[in-house]
Amino acid sequence: MERGKQSMTDHYDVVVVGGGIHGVGVAQAAACYGYSVLLLEQTALAAGTSSRSSKLIHGGLRYLEGYDFGLVHESLSERAILLRIAPDLVHLQPFHIPVYPETSRRPPAIRAGLILYALLGGLHHTSRFRKLGQADWDGLDGLETDRLQAVYQYTDAQTNDADLTRAVMQSAIDLGAHLSCPAEFLAASIEKQVVAIHFRENTAEKSCTAAVLVNAGGPWVNTIADRISPKPAGIDVDLIQGTHLVLEGALTAGCYYMEAPQDQRAIFLLPWGKHSMLGTTEHVYRGDPAQVSALAEEESYLLEAMGRYFPAHPQQVVDRFAGLRVLPASGSRAFKRSRETHLSIDAPTRPRAVAIYGGKLTGYRATAEKVVKILHRTLPDRKVLAKTAELPLRPV
Ligand SMILES: Cc1cc2nc3c(=O)[nH]c(=O)nc-3n(C[C@H](O)[C@H](O)[C@H](O)COP(=O)(O)OP(=O)(O)OC[C@H]3O[C@@H](n4cnc5c(N)ncnc54)[C@H](O)[C@@H]3O)c2cc1C
Repeated sequence: MERGKQSMTDHYDVVVVGGGIHGVGVAQAAACYGYSVLLLEQTALAAGTSSRSSKLIHGGLRYLEGYDFGLVHESLSERAILLRIAPDLVHLQPFHIPVYPETSRRPPAIRAGLILYALLGGLHHTSRFRKLGQADWDGLDGLETDRLQAVYQYTDAQTNDADLTRAVMQSAIDLGAHLSCPAEFLAASIEKQVVAIHFRENTAEKSCTAAVLVNAGGPWVNTIADRISPKPAGIDVDLIQGTHLVLEGALTAGCYYMEAPQDQRAIFLLPWGKHSMLGTTEHVYRGDPAQVSALAEEESYLLEAMGRYFPAHPQQVVDRFAGLRVLPASGSRAFKRSRETHLSIDAPTRPRAVAIYGGKLTGYRATAEKVVKILHRTLPDRKVLAKTAELPLRPV
């Protein structure tokens, strides 16, 4: 199926592989700059990580612990933009951090983190935080109050990641981008003038050419890189599985940011319609990205934490899903590794193949703008049609 305006030619300025948030973001940004774009997605839009995230549009309070101030600042700016351009898709939520005697992050550190978070967010009204009075504790969805010492409340934002992905693709299509789905990228060869690309659309094998190929394959990024000749130098990555559980029972007071009692990792409990969503775990994954699924041990880890903080909340799991973070290969714990996005370019002066490694749902637009800036080195200037920071995004 091909949607969007039809073209008489099979040559594009940009061919993007992968219809997750990064791929659609690049398609939209490139179309904004007037480039012709084809996006190939093998399964369905947001079929990979972009429907399996924690669905937060956030600065990432805990990245402050890794001194990732640039990432937090950029993410908070992106949050502000998305709240403005996508009010039907991204909405603010109160977040709560409960503190018990065994909580490792103590009130002075939490307060310092929230002050820094507010500063990096430009001291906007959405950066305000406060310590709740004890009288407010009973309104916190049954949070355990025995031995509770304090609850800090601040604001971040939530979305539906798959809906956001589809909305960005629709915006790209409205600007003239083409979507081919299901269409599996099979191979590409970087030739003197063009990149020759082969793909399977439904059951038919097809070819096209592009000036530049963008690899937005998420956990498949290196599988896609292996199909390009000459093979661009990539980055060694670990795939880290994160699982969420959807539980019976709604939440009314917002989101909760807790420490897993087992190892002090951060876990979230979030409202999810008439249900609630609990996540996430971090396990190194070595299999086929298409087969990733929640593990029984992850489920018991999350439910044990849930029972500790919300003893009366139903533990009935109505759904479970797992996604894969793409992190630079390293011996350190996944939890402690940077969430920065890495862009890999085959040739600095005239890039023909650009790959996106890692990244955040929240930062997709900023990443897409950085990718298009790189594409400008190869592509001629075209008439700019729109700005990604100003284009409204609507649910499809
Ligand atoms: C558990 C977890 C929680 C997260 N929570 C958050 C959060 O709360 N907030 C946040 O900002 N970020 C979060 N993230 C990060 C965010 O979800 C990811 O950075 C983002 O979704 C990655 O998108 P992507 O487009 O790079 O990859 P994907 O969404 O995985 O997209 C890649 C696409 O490429 C396609 N593809 C692969 N091979 C081919 C081929 N040969 N031909 C055609 N198509 C192909 C796949 O089908 C897939 O659709 C989380 C990540 C995880 C794993």
